[in-house]
Formats: sequence, structure tokens, C-alpha cells
Amino acid sequence: MKEKKPIGILGATGVVGQNYIKLLQNHPWFQIVDVAASPKSSGKKYEEAVKTKWQMPISIPSDIKDLIVRDVQDFKSIPSGVSLMFSAITMPTKEKIKELEFKYAEKGIVVISNNSAHRWTPDVPMIIGEINYDHINVIPIQQQRRGFSKGFVSVKPNCSVQSYMTPIYALEKAGYKVEKMIVTTLQAVSGAGYPGVPSLDIIDNIIPYINGEEEKSEKEPLKILGTVTDSGIVNNDSIQISTTCTRVPVADGHIACINLKFKDNKPTIEEILKIWKEFKSVPQELNLPFAPKQPIIYLEEIDRPQPKKDRDNDKGMAVTIGRLRKDNVFDVKFVALSHNTIRGAAGGAILNAELLVAKGFIK
Ligand code: NAP
Repeated sequence: MKEKKPIGILGATGVVGQNYIKLLQNHPWFQIVDVAASPKSSGKKYEEAVKTKWQMPISIPSDIKDLIVRDVQDFKSIPSGVSLMFSAITMPTKEKIKELEFKYAEKGIVVISNNSAHRWTPDVPMIIGEINYDHINVIPIQQQRRGFSKGFVSVKPNCSVQSYMTPIYALEKAGYKVEKMIVTTLQAVSGAGYPGVPSLDIIDNIIPYINGEEEKSEKEPLKILGTVTDSGIVNNDSIQISTTCTRVPVADGHIACINLKFKDNKPTIEEILKIWKEFKSVPQELNLPFAPKQPIIYLEEIDRPQPKKDRDNDKGMAVTIGRLRKDNVFDVKFVALSHNTIRGAAGGAILNAELLVAKGFIK
């Protein structure tokens, strides 16, 4: 690409927004020129707006710290030439977010969102680059139906499903259809945003409930494995999923413990390991800048994966798995890990943007 695309971040001052700022430094295709947030931050220099809440292990990049934060509702001040916005906002209601993201699309801007507001809109794709890259084919349907010329909305799924959906898809693709799965997640505190869970609630503790998370992790895989039709994406309801989601005192990295039951065709442990080791998909074939070289990394050590040691594998974009073994009730069980704010949020969305550029959907 000769010139970098000027892009913006909605919710640039939050945990996910800050991750975009860290990850997009020196990105070969994208250049941040616009940072937007709530009226509380707007009008301030970015450095001032995040003064007490900057969480990244780097200083604020010099080309970002003096940018003036725009109010997300101030469309007149969007810098000219911006055709892509990453959205990492929270708002009082999902309806407000839906409306806002569609308003950007209406103005010709592509929105790639981390928020759950549009995950159930049938003509909005919910993409994991290695799995349902073909769901981008619903975009022309969205544009035609809603009268968008160049803009559209595309979303990322919930951060807790990232670690197990790629390995499960790899098995499904190899012909081993999953019938049932039980998933227990151990989710990091950064998943709750800033300031998130009060320290006295989480230090020395585990909270066995995350509002809305179990519903999302039971429903979203069905859309991800769904099919594009003329009326939008139709879910694949063939897998029964039951989840329990917990919050644990870990800074970054969501773990999931998964028990799987296959339909008729059951793979051996050796076959599963071979499928995971050899799995590659479109982001790897296209050699996209944020694509992990090996999307699924299997660790043989009995006590891995661990968030602290393994969440940053391949710059936080790989899924790390371990402890694959026979299950006495279902067929097999394993433990999976992914970095929630990178693969599960900003990094995953950047990969989706790269895919959309490579496929000609972002001009
Ligand atoms: P966060 O730290 O609470 O940040 C929220 C952002 O939204 C801030 O920039 C905030 O701006 C802005 N905001 C709040 N109220 C607003 C309003 N009324 N109008 C406009 N902007 C407003 O949250 P986060 O963890 O970054 O999460 C952002 C989104 O990503 C959420 O939808 C979340 O569910 C999703 N997500 C998070 C993760 C994760 O691991 N954290 C993973 C996947 C998806 P101010 O600073 O000005 O208040």
C-alpha cells in the first residue's frame, strides 16, 4: 500500500481504545488521525483525557498525545479522508450504540465494532478472520437494504469465545462435527473495561457471574458458524452449548475449559492434534499484517496454557491450547487461552479490517 489510510477510534480513551493506539503504532496500512470518546473527554488533548487511566505498558505515542478528542456525536469534526472507524465505545443502551454506528455507516464510513450491540443484526457480519471470512458477503445486502453507499458495520464476537471457536471450527472443517459442548471460562479483569471490577471484589477472589456473558457465549458461536443468505446470516443451530463464565484476578487473558461431544464421526487425540497443528486459513494465506503465523498453538506441557506465560503468543493474536485428553462423560476436553484485549478485541478487529481491505470492501 503506497499511502496509509487515515482512520479513527471511537472510544479511544477506554481499555480497548488504548489497545488500538498501542497496536496501530507503525501499522503498515493504517494511521490514526481521529480519537473520539464521551463528552467528558471531548475537547481535551488525548494525553490529558487519559491522564489517570492510561493502562498500556508504553508511553502514549507522540503522534497521538496531542490529538484533540472528538465527541463521538460530533460528525462535523471528523477529519476528511477518514473511511474507517474502530468502535470501542460503551453507552447507556445498546440501542444508542446501534444507532450511532449506523449513522457513521450512513456517512460513508466503515465501522468495525467491539461492542455487542449489532452482533444480532442479521445483515451485520460477526467475523473471526480464520473462521467465517466469507460472511463479509453479507455486506452488499446490508448496504443495499439500508441505503449505505460506501459505509457499513461489521462486528467482532465476544472476547470469551475466541479461544475455543477457532479450534472447534478446525475440527468441524476436517469433518468432525460437534454435537455438544460445555465451556467454563476464567476471564481476566481487563475484560470489564476501566475502572472495571472494584479491587476489593476481585483480589483474593473469583466472581462466578459476568452479566450477559453466558448468553453471548452460548449464542454467538451459532452465528459465527452460520450461513449467508439473501435475508442475512442464518444461524447454525446444530451445536448445543452450555457455558459458565467467571471473573478471576488475572490482568489479561481469558482461559476456557471445554468438554466436547462429537456427532457420529469421532477423531482420535492424535488426529485432533494434527488438525490443530496444520490449521491455517485465509488471513494466513493473504499474509495479513496481524495474522498469527500459526493460529492455534498446542503446548505439550501438562500445566499450560497459562495467561501470564502464553497470552502474548504471536503478539497476542494466536490461540494457545493444552491439556487435550479423553473425557469420561463427553469425548474429549481441553484448555484454551486467548488475549482478551488483543485477539479478543482490538487485534482481532484490526485483522478484520485488513481482511476487508484485502477483499476490496474498504476502498
Ligand atoms: P471502557 O474501558 O469502559 O471504555 C469505554 C469507552 O467508551 C471510553 O472511551 C469512554 O469514553 C467511551 N464512552 C463511555 N460512555 C460514552 C458515551 N455516552 N458516549 C460516547 N462514548 C462513551 O470499555 P472497554 O473495555 O474499552 O470496552 C469497549 C467496548 O469493547 C465495550 O463494548 C466492550 O464490551 C467491548 N469489548 C471489550 C473487551 C475487553 O477485553 N475489555 C473485549 C471485547 C469487547 P470516556 O473515557 O470519555 O468516558
